Amino acid sequence: MTTVLQNREALRAEIGKVAEVAGYLWKKGWAERNGGNITVNITEHVDEEMRGMKAIAGPFPIGKQLPHLEECWFYCKGTGKRMRDLARDPMANGSIIRICPGCSSYEIVADSPVMPTSELPSHLAVHDYLLVKGSPYRASLHTHPIELVALTHSRYWLEKDNATRMLWSMIPETKAFCPRGLGIVPYMLPSSVELADATIRTIDEDYDVVMWEKHGVFAVDVDIMDAFDQVDVLNKAAQIYIAGKAMGFEPEGMTSAQMKEMSVAFHLPK
Ligand SMILES: [Zn+2]
Repeated sequence: MTTVLQNREALRAEIGKVAEVAGYLWKKGWAERNGGNITVNITEHVDEEMRGMKAIAGPFPIGKQLPHLEECWFYCKGTGKRMRDLARDPMANGSIIRICPGCSSYEIVADSPVMPTSELPSHLAVHDYLLVKGSPYRASLHTHPIELVALTHSRYWLEKDNATRMLWSMIPETKAFCPRGLGIVPYMLPSSVELADATIRTIDEDYDVVMWEKHGVFAVDVDIMDAFDQVDVLNKAAQIYIAGKAMGFEPEGMTSAQMKEMSVAFHLPK
């Protein structure tokens, strides 16, 4: 079968990373049914020939105008598609789209006309924001990590940076690899404009991983593997905390002095 990935090794590798991460999300139990979303800005891997390709479907309205996405291309998980299927076949369970002139619609330039995730407007709004900021981040991930979601069923852990401090204190690597911690967004209707706007505001406060109360995380990073790693490291810390509680005691956590020493030694932000 012909595929737009043919002779485009960099693009194939980028989408290969998405498939690999989709498999991890399923194995971790973070991606039940069609849960979770991934979008990656792949513009830098699109060559002249691909730019000239005819769309196989569209244009479709985005639902909002995103002026900084002019000539941008994205790989997105397909609407209603499962992460476990995407892991096997990313081009049958996801789509490549290009933003049309005017930045308020998109068309599909892929192997089959898979409609992108219903969360597309909010994911694209985040990518638009990242480009405005001059951020090197090109990937966004939404998933349902069990232990992190469980934490958000407690008022205490929803207070600003309480969860961040606890998670950092469980094991030194957490602060080293998630130096911006875990931002919190209070419960809002899934897929709503309000949730998308609150997510962007929280990323703007300098968080890479944002926790949606009683729902899941939204993470951004340079690529999808790094976005996954941040969530994985934070969830691991939550698991260590829970393991301590299950053994019948309140986990002590590293001291503030120990964490400060880490920050200085590893030149961490904040
Ligand atoms: Zn979700």
